[in-house]
Amino acid sequence: MSVQNWEKNVRKVVPYVAGEQPENKNVIKLNTNECPYPPAPGVLTAKEKMDMGDLRLYPNSKSESLVNALAEYYHVKPTQVFVGVGSDDVISMAFLTFFYGGEPILFPDVTYSFYDVWADLYRIPYKTCALDENWRIDPADYKQPNGGIIFPNPNAPTGVFEPLEKVEEILKANPDVVVIVDEAYVDFGGESALSLLDRYENLLVVQTFSKSRSMAGLRIGFCIGSEKMIAYLNDVKYSVNSYTMNYPALQLGVEAVKDEAYFKATTAKIIATRERVKKELSELGFTFPDSKTNFIFASHKSVPAKEIFLALREHNIFVRYWEKPRINNSLRITIGTDEQMDVMIAFLKEYLKDR
Ligand code: PMP
Repeated sequence: MSVQNWEKNVRKVVPYVAGEQPENKNVIKLNTNECPYPPAPGVLTAKEKMDMGDLRLYPNSKSESLVNALAEYYHVKPTQVFVGVGSDDVISMAFLTFFYGGEPILFPDVTYSFYDVWADLYRIPYKTCALDENWRIDPADYKQPNGGIIFPNPNAPTGVFEPLEKVEEILKANPDVVVIVDEAYVDFGGESALSLLDRYENLLVVQTFSKSRSMAGLRIGFCIGSEKMIAYLNDVKYSVNSYTMNYPALQLGVEAVKDEAYFKATTAKIIATRERVKKELSELGFTFPDSKTNFIFASHKSVPAKEIFLALREHNIFVRYWEKPRINNSLRITIGTDEQMDVMIAFLKEYLKDR
């Protein structure tokens, strides 16, 4: 088909491809790092009590209830907190706001595959820095001229957590650009860079309710940074959409933050399951970097990842596989319930018996 004149004015992008959300509820879904447990009990009670008549009104555009709850929980000022429609929305807004310098932004070569999509969308030049053979970041790579830095910690899809000394080394070397630490998975055994906020005005820490707070479906993400950075972020947000956070997200999000005991119990359960699944996968001939997340990034010693991926899929067990350089022999397996993991391990035992 020929390109019509109007198409020359189109902002063309190659979109991010999210993990599959199958209609079939019988699938064991270990492909998008969701939490296998329901949201906190208080969230479910609040949902019953929610006044749906209020849906006729616009929500509070400053998302004050949720911002205040997060500020209290993380011991920061409300003016240091920004919330969005999942951390995808928060990071996208942060790219739009802070990466406007002309120099390439830097991120790891193996990382969350949305970063290059946002960079392309907003026409931000970028350079990737290769992780080493153990999937570690070399801070020296981040000492070159750049227009900003982003990396997840722990990283995805590798699951590798970098100690805060390394994060700080990168911050120290980059006082003139914004450094974003994407902590989507930090609650599963990592350590947050929030403790560095007092010393680095250019640090933005992003987190999400999608994994450790069991609320991927509601779409809540947030970031914490200096008051100055949050003010810049809000200026951009209010120039795109005043009402990003809907009424149910605000009401229910607050309840999730309040229930610290449930949050701690759920994350502890996932960590315990992960640790025993690590042992079982090792016994089956898998290797993986040590994960501090709710997933394991595993390769088998003799069977190609794609084959295992397809075989698992045949048996309604969905994991994530990418046909991409460096990671095309690895599977990213989300930690589900103990029962779900038992089914997966039992299948793999049989499947890999003579291999
Ligand atoms: N960052 C990383 C590293 C992720 O893996 C994800 C999940 N796909 C996100 C951010 C976005 O998650 P959400 O928008 O659900 O908060």
